[in-house]
Formats: sequence, C-alpha cells, structure tokens
Amino acid sequence: MLKGLNAVVTGGSRGIGREIALKLAQNGANIFIPDIVISENTEQTLSDCRALGVQAEAMVCDVSSFEAVKEFCDRMAKEFGGVDILVNNAGITRDGLLGRMSEENFDAVIATNLKGAFNFCRNLYRNFLGRKSGRIINISSVVGLNGNIGQVNYSAAKAGLIGLTKSVAKELAARNVTCNAIAPGFIQTAMTDALTPEVRAQYEASIPLGRLGIPEDIANLALFLCSPSASYITGEVIRCDGGLAM
Ligand code: NAP
Repeated sequence: MLKGLNAVVTGGSRGIGREIALKLAQNGANIFIPDIVISENTEQTLSDCRALGVQAEAMVCDVSSFEAVKEFCDRMAKEFGGVDILVNNAGITRDGLLGRMSEENFDAVIATNLKGAFNFCRNLYRNFLGRKSGRIINISSVVGLNGNIGQVNYSAAKAGLIGLTKSVAKELAARNVTCNAIAPGFIQTAMTDALTPEVRAQYEASIPLGRLGIPEDIANLALFLCSPSASYITGEVIRCDGGLAM
C-alpha cells in the first residue's frame, strides 16, 4: 500500500514510534528516523524494518533544534528523494505540579513536543508543496484535550499540537497534503512504565475498555491515516484511548 514512499518517524526507535515505523515498513514504506542519539534501540528498529524489505536509516537529530531538523530535511531531499509521510511522534514528559514546575521543565517539553513538530512541518513545507501529496500525522494526547494534574507543560504542548495540526491542514489542503492528529490515552511504553502499580490500577479502572492500550493500537490508526482510505480526512483529531476521554 505504501510501497516506495519515504516515511519520517520522529522518536521512531522505541515505544509508539517504533511500532508506527514497523507498521509502515510492513506496508512497503522506507523508514527514516531522526534520533537524538543512535542507540541499540535505534539499530534494532532499523534492522527489523530492513528485514521487511524496505530501506531504513537513522540520522542524529534533536527535533527541538530548528537547525538540526533543517539539516535532516536537506539530507532527505538530496540523498533520499524527499518525504511522503511525516509522523511527529518524538515526545518527553517532565511532570510536576504547577507550584513546583520549573521554567526549564516547561520549556523543554514545549521545545520537543510542540516546536519539534513545527520544525519538521516548516522545513518540509516546500517538499510537500512540490510533491502535491503527502501525509502528516502529529501524535498529541488525550491530556491535550482535557488537561491533567501535574502536566501543565505536557498538556499545553499537546493542545498546541492540535492547533498546529488544524492550521497546517488548512494551509496544505490545496496541495493534497493531509494533516491529522492522534490523541492516545494511556499506552504501555517506557513513558507509562514509570507509573506506580497503584496509579496504573487507577488509570485502568477509569478506562471504559478496561485496559491500557498497546503501541500497535496507535500504529494501526497511523497506518489508516497514511492509506488511500483516509484521503478525505484532514484537520481531524482522533482519540485512541479505550474511551477514556469521551
Ligand atoms: P517513549 O517510549 O518515551 O519514546 C519517545 C521517543 O522520542 C524516543 O525514541 C526518544 O528518543 C524520542 N525523543 C525524545 N526526545 C527527542 C528529541 N529531542 N529528538 C529526537 N527524538 C527524541 O514515548 P512513547 O510512549 O512511545 O510516546 C510517543 C509519543 O506518544 C510521544 O509524543 C508521547 O507524548 C505520545 N503519547 C504517549 C502516550 C503513552 O501513554 N505512552 C500517551 C499519549 C501520547 P530516545 O530513545 O533517544 O530517548
């Protein structure tokens, strides 16, 4: 379905990003991972993608740095023929109650989760205009819709990503480029492994479907949004949360 298309998946070496990379690779897309450090996880994801018969490369790139992202996007154009699919997935948390949240932790979360997506959309703007087609998927969160105690920084970044998604969708629609956001609920990854068993049990009890999600739940939705079946969907925010935020 995606044979020969080039997909950039930020934060694609582990967690949700890794699963999205594998799902797109299973469907024929070449995978490119901008990663803050090339780790064993990165190498593993690349070799798992290559085993599916596609090209897979990683390049060191801090998504929060406009210059580093520009360099990455320039290399994509020169060495690999540009980008068809962009998944802005890289994210961090620096949780804390408002009364104790440092300026540094607020700025760091905005820089990676929100500005990182701007950096890619901005530096791939001409790429997408020229291609007259393309898919952009931003990984937001249900806390961007509803807010959350201890996550003023993260929920602001994820809500900002929804505004960014709708504006990019409006600006690029005339060029046949869609831009959508996925709002995951609680998904089992390193990010949620940090929860204590008590907190985890509380979360599970609050999810109508009665369980945390798995990265593949998000990857299946990302694949759908990249597929021809989703060609008339843009500017949308789709929750994938077991009913948590309804
Ligand atoms: P994760 O397991 O912590 O993985 C995050 C990925 O982002 C890692 O590959 C990490 O690279 C990369 N990354 C972080 N900062 C970066 C930077 N400055 N430049 C480049 N790469 C960077 O997270 P996850 O749980 O899979 O979450 C993926 C996305 O889904 C995030 O945007 C998160 O906010 C969102 N989300 C997650 C949940 C959940 O329950 N897990 C719920 C809602 C939304 P390293 O491996 O080098 O650290």
